[in-house]
Amino acid sequence: MDKTSILIVEDDPSIRNLMTTTLKAHGYLFLTAGTGEAAILAAASHNPDIVLLDLGLPDIDGMEVIRRIRTWSNMPIIIISARSEDSDKIDALDAGADDYLTKPFSVDELLARIRTTQRRLKLLHQEDAENQPRFVNGDLCIDYAAGSVFLRNQELHLTPIEYKLLCLLSRNIGKVLTHNYITQNIWGSSWESDIASLRVYMATLRKKLESDPDAPAYIQTHIGVGYKMLKVS
Ligand code: CA
Repeated sequence: MDKTSILIVEDDPSIRNLMTTTLKAHGYLFLTAGTGEAAILAAASHNPDIVLLDLGLPDIDGMEVIRRIRTWSNMPIIIISARSEDSDKIDALDAGADDYLTKPFSVDELLARIRTTQRRLKLLHQEDAENQPRFVNGDLCIDYAAGSVFLRNQELHLTPIEYKLLCLLSRNIGKVLTHNYITQNIWGSSWESDIASLRVYMATLRKKLESDPDAPAYIQTHIGVGYKMLKVS
């Protein structure tokens, strides 16, 4: 398999060095950019597999970098940000970022995030290749064509909204979906009341899906941000 290529966008030289040293040690190909404009140029000319993007850049905002890249590419973008406010993460995810890492982060966290994204890419490519009408993740199987869901070969009886919610998460496996994104997709709106309903539906879905709803294996909560379906091995 070809080496995964990663574009590192970071203006702080010490963090950039930490990231390049880590990626080099783990056999990744990488290139770096210290500004937003350089990042867009590098993304366009090298077409990397994954972008690691700092949101606070000296020229244009990282958010603008996401929007510009998204006009022509779906390449996975992982935000790396010192801003701990949820609103920044949410804005970046809504603008099309795939995942986020908050500074300060450990090398292990960085590598874990990259591996998750690689698995998602692989899965997406497989799905493209076979155009599968079925989704399989651990003991979970969704037959999109038949509209049915099985857990350990037992059919799960889901309400239409629970089913829509599960399909949305499964089609975006490994990606954090914001409350706003999910409610827009399910109800076409994103009012406070929709977000409250989402919590209720998520709780009922988890009761049916997870063996331990307090320690979910399939759907991860990102408090104040949204939800992500995890790849279960
Ligand atoms: Ca910065």
